[in-house]
Amino acid sequence: MPELPEVETIAKGLDRNLRGRKIVGLWTDWPKYFKLPRTENGFRRLVIGKKVTGVDRRAKNVLIHLSDNHLLLVHQKMSGHLLVGQWQKASRSRNKSLADAWAGQEWLPVSGGGPMIDPKNRFIRLILFLDDGRMLALSDLRRFAKILCGPREKIFDLPDLKNLGPEPLLPNFGFAEFGKIFERKKGRIKQVLMDPRFIAGIGNIYSDEILWAAKIHPLTRVESLGVKQLKKLYQAMRSILRKALRLRGTSIDDYRDASGRRGGYDKVRYVYQREDEPCPRCRAPIQRIKVGGRSAHFCPRCQKMK
Ligand SMILES: [Zn+2]
Repeated sequence: MPELPEVETIAKGLDRNLRGRKIVGLWTDWPKYFKLPRTENGFRRLVIGKKVTGVDRRAKNVLIHLSDNHLLLVHQKMSGHLLVGQWQKASRSRNKSLADAWAGQEWLPVSGGGPMIDPKNRFIRLILFLDDGRMLALSDLRRFAKILCGPREKIFDLPDLKNLGPEPLLPNFGFAEFGKIFERKKGRIKQVLMDPRFIAGIGNIYSDEILWAAKIHPLTRVESLGVKQLKKLYQAMRSILRKALRLRGTSIDDYRDASGRRGGYDKVRYVYQREDEPCPRCRAPIQRIKVGGRSAHFCPRCQKMK
């Protein structure tokens, strides 16, 4: 699932491309995406004719700000990613080899080359047509994404945004604030880091990476962490997330940026999905264990349970 670095990279790409553009049409083969309003027609009435005034993010939600004080929220979930480009109906495409390779897909990229022909970008389930001929599309293999639209205050008042923990990379989120959110918090550190009500935007990939950098075992109980360890954790969190953001995210799974390109963090990742490979610090083989139904990757020598 795209996490903070991936969602932020997408949001920045969308902001560059969509700001000032008007939405003039909508196509989807999966109206279940719409949770508010719940019907395709209701959603259509709300977005068509509105201009994009800017795009940013909160936690893993992409926030597309619209004219008339409206907000379009997209949670990309497991395999969704938003793309800006041009597609045409497969039946009209002159690119026979791509049409063959992607048989069964209704839309194909107009240009025959470039990152959009990465097969991970082929699951086009929803398109917003823009007034300059380009399109905002959702490629989503597993169809778990979630889309909401309404007046800004109403959307910000929904649990999706209201119940979120602080943003870990904000300049004013210092160690004092970070330490405070651990007071009275209980549980295994890996699960706590991944809880969006605790802290926003961290999922399976970066919780593994952060805990390795901080030398903390993923099953450590947070109530046992001392100030020294919390400081290490805070620094690791900020530096890993910043590094991943600089490298435009991790593309091991389905994530691609708004122009269809891969992120660069997979190549430098320390432990995530590196089971049995040597730890970059001590060469001990990386182990994988289950934590609350999710996999955790860690170094058994550097990340000892205290
Ligand atoms: Zn190690």
